[in-house]
Amino acid sequence: MKIQQKIEALREELHKLNYEYYVLDNASISDFDFDMKLKELQDLETQYPDFFDPNSPTQKVGGMVTKNFETVVHTHRMYSLDNSYSKQDLLDWEKRILKIVEGAIEYTCELKYDGASINLTYENGLLVKAVTRGDGIQGDDVTTNVKTIKSIPLKIGVGMPDNFQIRGEIILPLDGFAKMNQERLLAGEETYKNPRNTASGSLKLQDSAEVAKRPLDCLLYQVVGGSFKSHSQALQMANKAGFKVPETLKIAKSIDEVLAFVNYWDNARHTLPYETDGVVIKVNSIRHQEELGYTAKAPRWAIAYKFKAEQVATLLHEITYQVGRTGAITPVANLEPVELAGTTVKRASLHNAGQIALHDIRVGDEVYVEKGGEIIPKIVGVDFSKRPLDSVPTIYATHCPECNTPLVRTQGDAKHYCPNEQGCPPQVAGRIIHFISRKAMDIDGIGAETVDLLCKEGLIQNYADLYDLKVEQIIPLERMAEKSANNMIAGIHASKQIPFEKVLYALGIRFVGETVAKKLAKYFKNIDALFAADYDALIAVDEIGGKIAESVIAFRNDLNHIQLVNRLKAYGLQLALSADVQEGLTEKLIGKTFVVSGVFYQVSRNELKKMIEDNGGKVSSSISKKTDFVVAGDNMGPAKLQKATDLEITIISEEEFLSML
Ligand code: AMP
Ligand code: ZN
Repeated sequence: MKIQQKIEALREELHKLNYEYYVLDNASISDFDFDMKLKELQDLETQYPDFFDPNSPTQKVGGMVTKNFETVVHTHRMYSLDNSYSKQDLLDWEKRILKIVEGAIEYTCELKYDGASINLTYENGLLVKAVTRGDGIQGDDVTTNVKTIKSIPLKIGVGMPDNFQIRGEIILPLDGFAKMNQERLLAGEETYKNPRNTASGSLKLQDSAEVAKRPLDCLLYQVVGGSFKSHSQALQMANKAGFKVPETLKIAKSIDEVLAFVNYWDNARHTLPYETDGVVIKVNSIRHQEELGYTAKAPRWAIAYKFKAEQVATLLHEITYQVGRTGAITPVANLEPVELAGTTVKRASLHNAGQIALHDIRVGDEVYVEKGGEIIPKIVGVDFSKRPLDSVPTIYATHCPECNTPLVRTQGDAKHYCPNEQGCPPQVAGRIIHFISRKAMDIDGIGAETVDLLCKEGLIQNYADLYDLKVEQIIPLERMAEKSANNMIAGIHASKQIPFEKVLYALGIRFVGETVAKKLAKYFKNIDALFAADYDALIAVDEIGGKIAESVIAFRNDLNHIQLVNRLKAYGLQLALSADVQEGLTEKLIGKTFVVSGVFYQVSRNELKKMIEDNGGKVSSSISKKTDFVVAGDNMGPAKLQKATDLEITIISEEEFLSML
């Protein structure tokens, strides 16, 4: 078989497998076999870049970086929805409809998904654009990020018009959201608040490979264009062509049938794998929809029915304080257990001192607990009519419940902190847990629980102590056998090979996350140079701002930290870039800004960008006066070409670029 045919056959097959797995939820091959096929395609595409295809299934792993999302005007405005809250509201809506259209009205009922709305444009079966709702008139082009969402087809099957748009909601299912937060907790990072914000935030990440890692899903609920008779038919065809559509869609012949759907889901929604805050009711006939048209804000042919946020009243027994791994204090309400949204609630977050004062929440009060978008229920108010006569205002904790250190609160921060970084048990353990976590030192054989145990037993007080641990000290511990002790020590030992950038991340310098650690490691090349840098030298690094610079300086000014780092050095950890990484780095392109556009042959676009950065240059996604060179491959966009010519920017070919190095 010719290479091109082989590549195309693999793509077809993978498109189909993706559809089976992510839309139909019915895989026909194992994950392993799927990965092997994808890998085969990836290898072929790298080897034969001539056959590049922006809609290849390999694009789902991401890798493109977008610095500025382009604003795009919607060809069809994205409206909002009117809300209704009662049977009467729905009957009033029907009355308004019947003034405009004649005859029997058929409705569709579907769930209202709580995420970020998106407009997808398909041309000749291919996804060409994905734009956020924005203000409804114009939104942001987030195509590269959206392409990584597994259930969105890059290429569709038959049955849809040549050109059409389809709208839907990008959501983050609850289990995926919980997993993301679990990982952040382990890494000692602040958790995400709710799935909706996290979903819409994900669309605006610069690195699409990061988006690809997030378990986002997309449900499509409106086809724009085509000549479908009804909304339900359009969605049915869309589903056949490869889109995930609301599986709960139901046709109702009267408002009473609509209400039956609403009442059913008001209860059953708690069993769904994602959040919904209501039902959307639409007039099914497209002809009727056209007759009804739009108000200034919303379609007349659709209405949202909002579920009531679930709230119950219960007794507040006690307020306790939790110390997070970063020292942040969270007040927790301990409640008389109560049923809410399908679970028993015993505790709720009180957020911070300000919230308690705002609602004047006191022990002994009957409080209202609500379960909204957030996973942890919250207290939204007090039933003052039930307040006991002897009730006293809440005095917020003044000392850390774990180490009794006086709490501090910096200006502009709603939270109190325990400043005893070195001696407060959850903070001490937290830093070690961050150190061993997967994205940091990735130490096999130890988990968070083991760290807590080792700390409690007094065997370790900081991450450097890990490297002094002996098998004999571990074996006597609870639930430890010789084998697990050996594994642990072997894992610790093996971590001495972990590259510098990860060690730097593992140190737990505030605001130095994975990406920042990489940037700093590459720029300064070793820890001594980094710690010798002053404020100006630090902010001279691309994308390093004042907040990070100050944090690095505060870290290295602390003698405790210096001692820890010196110990790590003595144990043989990598505190400098390895020689072969350094070899690939030069400063040949320092001070030069590049824009890379088009398809390349000798190296991939991503490799090209990496080469620019490795040699000290800067990659930007859009052409401006600051651009020094445009590296132009095949099929460079005409708009970009024009702009580069207008601004008189030097345009170079792939070969010319490579010879610069
Ligand atoms: P609102 O933002 O409250 O005005 O509600 C309108 C939004 O609901 C739309 O922009 C969509 O993003 C969203 N939505 C969620 N599920 C649906 C659905 N099944 N049909 C239509 N819109 C939906
Ligand atoms: Zn403390």
